[in-house]
Amino acid sequence: MNPYKKISIILAFVVGTVNFTVSAQQAKVLNLDKNVHAISLMGYTSLVVEGDNEVLITDTANPVRANILKKEIEKLTDKPVGKIVLTHEHFDHTGGTEVFKDAEIIAQKNVKNLDGLDPLDLFPDTIDILFEKHLTINLGTTVVELKYLGAADGAAIAVVHLPKERIVVTSDMYTDEGINEGIFLSHTNLLGTRYLLKTILSWNLNHSINTHSSRTDITHLKETVAFLDDLYEAIISRLKKMDKNNGHELLNEVFRLKKSLKLPKYKDWKNYKDLPVYIQKMGYDIIHGG
Ligand SMILES: [Zn+2]
Repeated sequence: MNPYKKISIILAFVVGTVNFTVSAQQAKVLNLDKNVHAISLMGYTSLVVEGDNEVLITDTANPVRANILKKEIEKLTDKPVGKIVLTHEHFDHTGGTEVFKDAEIIAQKNVKNLDGLDPLDLFPDTIDILFEKHLTINLGTTVVELKYLGAADGAAIAVVHLPKERIVVTSDMYTDEGINEGIFLSHTNLLGTRYLLKTILSWNLNHSINTHSSRTDITHLKETVAFLDDLYEAIISRLKKMDKNNGHELLNEVFRLKKSLKLPKYKDWKNYKDLPVYIQKMGYDIIHGG
C-alpha cells in the first residue's frame, strides 16, 4: 500500500473517532423556566433545578456522563448539587451519583426490593431519602414534588413534578415517535404505564421531560396515551367476553389476539411491527398482573 494513502486512512479514522466522541458528549442545555434547565447528554436528559442554596438534579446515569454533567452544571451556577432524584430503579439511570460527593440521593422506597440483586454494583450503596407515596422538596426558588403513581416502567418510580412551572420528568414510558422497540417491554407494566401517562397528561403541562429524549413538548406523550387507550380497549373488550374463571381460556385469547389484532391507525408508527409484543404484554398485565 502507498504509505501516504495508509497515513490518510489512519487520520480519517482518528478524526472520525474524535468527532464522534465530541458530538456524543456535547450537551444540549435548555432553559425551561426561571431556575429550571434540562441538560441532554449521551442519551439522557437531566432536570436541573437551582434552589436558594443548592441544586437538585435527576438521573446521573453513569460515572462518565455524571462527570460531564457536573461541568455543564458548573457553567450555569456555582451552587453545589445537593439532591439527586432517581426517576426509577433501572441501573442505566442510577450510576454516577458518587461524582456529586455531597448530594443526598432520593428514591422511591421500592428500590429496597433490589437488595442482593445488583451483581455489578451499579446501584448506589446508600439512598439518603426514601419516600413512599409523596415527597415535597422546597428549594426556596422552586417546589419539587415527587409522586409514586404505581408500577409502570419499573416498580420504584418517582414522578418528578414542578407544579408551578408545570414541568414533569419521567423515564422510558414513551419515545419521540412511534412506540419503543418490543424488546424494551420486559420490565414494563403497560396498565400502569397507561395510568401514569394519563395522570401526568391531566396536569396541563408546559414541559414533559422523557429522560431518553431531548424534546420537552407534550405532543408524543399525548399520542402515546391515545395509543395505549386504543390498545387497552381492543384487548379488554375481547377478554370481557371470556369466562374470567378459566385462566386457560383467557391466556388462549391473548395468544389469538397477538396474531389477529391490528391497530391500523398506527400502522405508520415507528416499531409498529412490534405491536404483537404490546398486545401480549397488555394482555398478560390484564390477566396476570405484571
Ligand atoms: Zn432508561
